[in-house]
Amino acid sequence: MAIVEGDIVLARCDGSTYEGVLMPSTTGTTVVKLINGYNMGFKPENVTLELVEKKSELKGVQVELPPPNPKLPDISILSTGGTIASKVDYRTGAVTSQFSAEDILLAIPELTEIANYNARVCYSILSENMRPEYWVKLSEEVYNEIKAGADGVIITHGTDTMMYTAAAIAFMIDTPVPIVFVGSQRSADRPSSDNAMNAICAAKVAAGDIAEVTVVMHGTTSDDYCHIHRGAKVRKMHTSRRDAFQSINSRPLGRVEYPSGEITTYLDYARRGERELSINTNIEPNCALIKYTPGASPETLLFASANYKGIVLEGTGLGHVSTEWVPYIERTTDAGIPVIVTSQCISGRVCDRVYDTGRDILKAGAIEGEDMLPEVALVKLMWALGQTSDIDEVKKLMSIDMAGEMTRSSRTWDVYS
Ligand code: ASP
Repeated sequence: MAIVEGDIVLARCDGSTYEGVLMPSTTGTTVVKLINGYNMGFKPENVTLELVEKKSELKGVQVELPPPNPKLPDISILSTGGTIASKVDYRTGAVTSQFSAEDILLAIPELTEIANYNARVCYSILSENMRPEYWVKLSEEVYNEIKAGADGVIITHGTDTMMYTAAAIAFMIDTPVPIVFVGSQRSADRPSSDNAMNAICAAKVAAGDIAEVTVVMHGTTSDDYCHIHRGAKVRKMHTSRRDAFQSINSRPLGRVEYPSGEITTYLDYARRGERELSINTNIEPNCALIKYTPGASPETLLFASANYKGIVLEGTGLGHVSTEWVPYIERTTDAGIPVIVTSQCISGRVCDRVYDTGRDILKAGAIEGEDMLPEVALVKLMWALGQTSDIDEVKKLMSIDMAGEMTRSSRTWDVYS
């Protein structure tokens, strides 16, 4: 009997066996949701599937959607996949990864008090399968929703690469309304799922006054509040904790209490209606992020400069690589390929003026990435190279704060303050 999505299967790969539910996949990967709630992806040629149990027929669920309330804002929800969009009923084996407004409101009825919704699936992928060209498409979708009158947009997204996509959208769109990214660390079928609270807090922010690209996720391991992070200043800092997302080199922009939905802000922000809607999706995706490690061959840069249009280095400490890399940096920048230096310390600001190596790196033409996250510097470099291939112009663009990705002064913030 043919195996279809939703069936319980035994997946055999490299001598190991995994039991779980066969998930939908748009990327050609075979995805199995294990009993512990995690999704496991296999190359189809490396895995054999054995049927354990057929999914039961799904009974259509009738949901009475309340009529749109003219007093509430209209929010568009764009789904891209990830844990937040996958739900398995282990009793029936039914898998829901595509969803409509009805599905969301059925699962989280509290949302109906906050806004009217319009929901659409843009992608149905795990976010490790995101690609720069998908950021472009998503950006256009967000732009179209706002142009058509949405008062806010929520993007549901896998947590692994949410910060890349959020940064990309922040560089590509100027927005007069909130654009809110939300995900979940634990899927809806797990008792500790964070998806309902994150979604409710995200809806509050999307209906509110912060007209920026933000990421709204659990602020602590309890269900007490969510943090509102700037999309270009946030990183997933833990593999599984619900409070994995933290603003780096900045306080979070604010927080949303749960369940009251009260919003407190800590930083200045662009208010609803303050900016004109505009979009610029030109990017050069062919850029690389290279982490320097002790003893790493500088020839890495030769390879990179032959294959990429721009390079972000994740250096040590204040932004260093070994002395033997310096001439290779010079060759790279002389060839018109920008090299941005960031730090693997993550917290703090790059300063290549303190030590000799740093000064030599600057003389070789490298550009300091200030206090940007390395991955955000990469996305920004893609965007900057989409505007110009002139290395001096790229340097100018890289040194302007465009979406809150750079702060003017460094301070280690206590994210829990
Ligand atoms: N790997 C998943 C993803 O990023 C994890 C998640 O959604 O939280 O899509």
